[in-house]
Amino acid sequence: MPHRTIHLFRKGLRLHDNPTLLAALESSEVVYPVYILDRKFLTSVMHIGDLRWHFLLQSLEDLQKNLCQLGSCLLVIQGEYESVLRDHIQKWNITQVTLDAEMEPFYKEMEANIRRLGEELGFEVLSLVGHSLYDTKRILDLNGGTPPLTYKRFLHILSLLGDPEVPVRNLTAEDFQRCRPPDPGLAECYRVPLPVDLKISLESLSPWRGGETEGLQRLEQHLTDQGWVASFTKPRTIPNSLLPSTTGLSPYFSMGCLSVRTFFYRLSNIYAQAKHHSLPPVSLQGQLLWREFFYTVASATPNFTKMAGNPICLQINWCEDAERLHKWKTAQTGFPWIDAIMTQLRQEGWIHHLARHAVACFLTRGDLWISWEEGMKVFEELLLDADYSINAGNWMWLSASAFFHQYTRIFCPVRFGRRTDPEGQYIRKYLPILKNFPSKYIYEPWTASEEEQKQAGCIIGQDYPFPMVNHKEASDHNLQLMKQVREEQYRTAQLTR
Ligand code: FAD
Repeated sequence: MPHRTIHLFRKGLRLHDNPTLLAALESSEVVYPVYILDRKFLTSVMHIGDLRWHFLLQSLEDLQKNLCQLGSCLLVIQGEYESVLRDHIQKWNITQVTLDAEMEPFYKEMEANIRRLGEELGFEVLSLVGHSLYDTKRILDLNGGTPPLTYKRFLHILSLLGDPEVPVRNLTAEDFQRCRPPDPGLAECYRVPLPVDLKISLESLSPWRGGETEGLQRLEQHLTDQGWVASFTKPRTIPNSLLPSTTGLSPYFSMGCLSVRTFFYRLSNIYAQAKHHSLPPVSLQGQLLWREFFYTVASATPNFTKMAGNPICLQINWCEDAERLHKWKTAQTGFPWIDAIMTQLRQEGWIHHLARHAVACFLTRGDLWISWEEGMKVFEELLLDADYSINAGNWMWLSASAFFHQYTRIFCPVRFGRRTDPEGQYIRKYLPILKNFPSKYIYEPWTASEEEQKQAGCIIGQDYPFPMVNHKEASDHNLQLMKQVREEQYRTAQLTR
């Protein structure tokens, strides 16, 4: 008997390489494509900020348009997950719910609740992996039931596993014609809300536009430059270029507007035609494997997004200092390089990987000695690509709490940015108050004389703050603390080495 199915979009907001939706269409007489807009869940569990709200609504709008072109539609139902499902399962005589399998504890819990509801109300649940290259369970099994804790070990396990599964075919109008779409009246009733409907500020609009269509366009644009793709070497990309020097695809992967498997195989095709190509960890495929690495470790590490109770994370007595944290978050540290990055993050929701390094190191082991969890929460709110596993994994890395061990290397908030942008164009763009300083002062305007500050139209301490710390003193002090922590917790420090 063919099913009457609700396909529940959570991430996976796309019609290419969507194995779960394909399975729904192949097994059903009617498919209701549904997105449950559970505001409480999105704000209090996912902590999504205004920029990501816009990106999400744009992605839903795009999905709606694309589904419509194939003869179906998207139903965006507002309300609490379980009660929405309970109502509509009965109303529409649903016999199956399909959804992508996700690895975050809150999504796992949601799936477990849906399965319980299925037992109670008598519907089946089908979930397939679509958000990562591999089913992380297979990696854990091959590694003896635990996650490989170094990238090297991880690559070794992948070499035993072989390539990821190839993407499934793109969905077509024929796929949708095989079963009935929802009644047209429903689409009208459950349309994608506008930001004003949800009282989301219209001031915060990122230049990044959400959706599968935009994501695929950006992907194609990058892939046309095959030389760039083949020679991509992450550490050589520039953190302060005015346009992203890496792909800038992370927001699209994060919401599942783009399939990582599609990207992986498109890269493989380019590599196959190139005489030489870069390799992991620095190649583009290597970047996707970092993503996979953090997904795998996060899937099997208790309290992965916390320090307490997290077995791979050093236990550090970080300072609690709301005022200093606020200065960092609101771009008032007095270090133009750090403040420009935090401004780009607040205005646009995306910053380069090395720029993330700079601000994360500054907040934690470099200058302020504030917990990585605080920084992670700020990123979670402000990043378009905020991701449970990758965010926490990288924050542990940057704070040298796990994964990273060259802790004596501390980024200088003056010299780091200057290396790749000596004129400070990036700072001039994001901190226009400093734009008239001569280049020799742009990274340390407090060293300009009073006269020079007047000429630049910006008095330090009045129009722009003095540096909030003496970097040399703070970083020397923190280095000693870190050394001590690592000696005392030697065994934990070795786990991810
Ligand atoms: P590219 O270099 O073009 O790489 C392609 C893809 O590979 C990315 O889109 C991303 O999916 C993946 N990738 C790249 N670098 C990493 C990495 N270091 N770890 C895991 N996956 C990677 N990335 C997120 O997607 N979400 C986050 O919440 C996030 N938080 C971060 C927090 C900190 C403190 C740091 C240092 C990094 C964080 N990153 C995060 C990782 C990385 O900075 C971004 O993935 C990358 O900058 C996105 O830009 P891109 O798409 O141009 O990357």
